[in-house]
Amino acid sequence: MNTKVESFLPRELEITLSNNCFLKCKYCFFNYFQSNKTITANFEKICEGIEQYIKKAKKENVKVERIGFVDYPDPLPYYEILKKLIIYIRKKHTDLKIEVQTNGILLDENKLKFLFDNNVLVVLKFDGTKQSTDFLKKYRNISNSIFDKVIENLKKLPNEYIKKINVAPTFTPDTIHNLVSDINFLSDIGFCEIQLKNMGIPMIWSKNNLEKLEIELKKLKLFYLKTLFKNIKNKKHQLVIHFSSLFNEDIPKTFNEFLLESNGSFYTAYYPFYAKDSINFKVGYHKTGINLNKIKKTKEKIMKYLNSKISNSSDIIYIPNPALLYTTIKLLKVPNSLSLIESTIKFGKIVNKVLYDINKLKKI
Ligand code: SF4
Repeated sequence: MNTKVESFLPRELEITLSNNCFLKCKYCFFNYFQSNKTITANFEKICEGIEQYIKKAKKENVKVERIGFVDYPDPLPYYEILKKLIIYIRKKHTDLKIEVQTNGILLDENKLKFLFDNNVLVVLKFDGTKQSTDFLKKYRNISNSIFDKVIENLKKLPNEYIKKINVAPTFTPDTIHNLVSDINFLSDIGFCEIQLKNMGIPMIWSKNNLEKLEIELKKLKLFYLKTLFKNIKNKKHQLVIHFSSLFNEDIPKTFNEFLLESNGSFYTAYYPFYAKDSINFKVGYHKTGINLNKIKKTKEKIMKYLNSKISNSSDIIYIPNPALLYTTIKLLKVPNSLSLIESTIKFGKIVNKVLYDINKLKKI
């Protein structure tokens, strides 16, 4: 029997290349923590951070699943450094999975060619119809349509590039009524892989919105199964919808998020580092390495807090991302934290009830 305690080191490392964003998405916590001073990642610091992480993973016998350049904020404005980092990782750690997330505004054929040539998974954060996208995503300083810009960029791409992009729409209580139309729209553009996300700031779902959520998820499940069946029959490309980020099947031992930020520090949650410093979520530094004990203690603190607020302790499994919920409550000083926790659990229960079986369906 393997008695080794599983490591607290997360299996995925996410990297941010700056601390400021030129968008102002409705659901994004960056809106609360914009800084006047933009810090852009330093190539050496990020390389050192990556090496610290890989060294720790080897020591802990943890298989690294992914290194991702996340869109908090979008990495493409820093394309030159991104490119250098990808070349560096590919040279030193040939088999590592690399992911680049983007809002699509600066996406073009050349960048995609480089990313695909280097075996990088490109995740496009795009919400579907104009109605949903322009409601959720806005520029910080101008009123142009984000939807129009992304569609203009997509139209210039070869079809085989569209097929390779993994698209990740976000939905919120305000856009849930449009979920199936959004997915249908994305599928019609030609995307083959859709990752359903409800990331960002956990939100309060009213009774009415939870009902809409259940209706839309049921419709989506039906749409998905019909499309799968139709595509198998016609031997057409498969549409795959990933629902996994909506679930927390067994509370991960460690964190869903583990960040190496542009300043060279490691954090256990997705908030900009100048905000995180205030609640001390820093668990390492590119020069000195990662403090596993600190990760463990932070995790325990979060679980203890959430458990103390939940009447039925087994309900904790319905919180898709406990660390995100905790940091939201603490950093934004959410006044109605209990309602937020209860609403998150109700959300998780509906997702489980409707999609649990379909989440088990992998690529056919
Ligand atoms: S979700 Fe990403 S693109 Fe949108 S405001 Fe936040 S950091 Fe910027």
